[in-house]
Amino acid sequence: MTAKIIDGKAIAANLRASVKSETHRLTAAHGIVPGLAVVLVGDNAASKTYVTSKSRAVVEVGMRPLDYHLPAATGEAELLALVKALNADPAVSGILVQLPLPPQIHTARVLNSIDPEKDVDGFHPLNAGRLMTGLPALVPCTPVACLKLIKSVHSSLVGIDALMVGRSHIVGNPLAQVLLNENATVSVAHTHTRNLPDYCRRAELLCVAIGCAEFIRGDWIKPGATVIDVGINRVTDGSGKSRIVGDVNFAEAAEVAGAITPVPGGVGPMTIVSLLVNTLHAACAQAGLPPPAV
Ligand code: NDP
Repeated sequence: MTAKIIDGKAIAANLRASVKSETHRLTAAHGIVPGLAVVLVGDNAASKTYVTSKSRAVVEVGMRPLDYHLPAATGEAELLALVKALNADPAVSGILVQLPLPPQIHTARVLNSIDPEKDVDGFHPLNAGRLMTGLPALVPCTPVACLKLIKSVHSSLVGIDALMVGRSHIVGNPLAQVLLNENATVSVAHTHTRNLPDYCRRAELLCVAIGCAEFIRGDWIKPGATVIDVGINRVTDGSGKSRIVGDVNFAEAAEVAGAITPVPGGVGPMTIVSLLVNTLHAACAQAGLPPPAV
């Protein structure tokens, strides 16, 4: 193996420690305990697991978890009323509505009702627009996580040839914009892209978020490139054992790349910490304080 492994767990642990000390500083100096409201509707097992780990992480860094678990039959009006109350509550610095929502609820209507200043998932169109126009914004957690991992390898992205494979509103689009704001030269590939392997081979920085297990092959990767694999895919081998793999064929890619994130242990552990970073930024901005040093 030639590639340096970008250790998301270790980088996340360092960042969590910084968030914790900045949170304690905010509390000691200004009496502010950032509060994160996490709203779960229904009993989706994966969502429950995410929500539990988010609340645990919030407590660990000295923030206040505010958990709301609503029944699966909750109507849209009821959820909108809860968001309205959270928007108005000064103890709430950040609001996260766990997706997916049940079918009777219009997801965009709910996400768009969150106060943009408390939109720690960064999904509100105002934050997307602010990111696009280079204004301070709450940026979706996974792109924030990816940038921190990339910065552990590249102190500057100025002029670097970057390819973003995937263009979802949660990962691909905002990450492409984040890289552009760092003055990388950014291309975006998707299902209509012709000759994807050729595009990949030109990229010094290859970011992949497509949800296709081990789709990107080793011989698509430019020697020495940095590879950020956002994908989380569960696959089952011949013996019926299941495991999690990324969107990149790690074993092949690690022989060619200069640096690569593993799956699991790369982007995943960083994403929750990025939520804490966003909550801390939101709390400071709401109090009229300068941004924290994380
Ligand atoms: P979406 O399904 O919303 O978007 C997938 C994107 O990839 C689309 O833009 C699609 O193109 C593109 N795409 C799909 N297949 C191909 C292909 N064969 N070639 C080129 N482009 C393709 O997924 P998400 O962005 O939400 O998630 C992507 C992956 O990242 C998933 O595995 C998800 O589990 C994971 N993830 C991981 C997180 C983490 O914390 N590590 C957080 C969020 C997601 P088109 O627009 O043309 O349809």
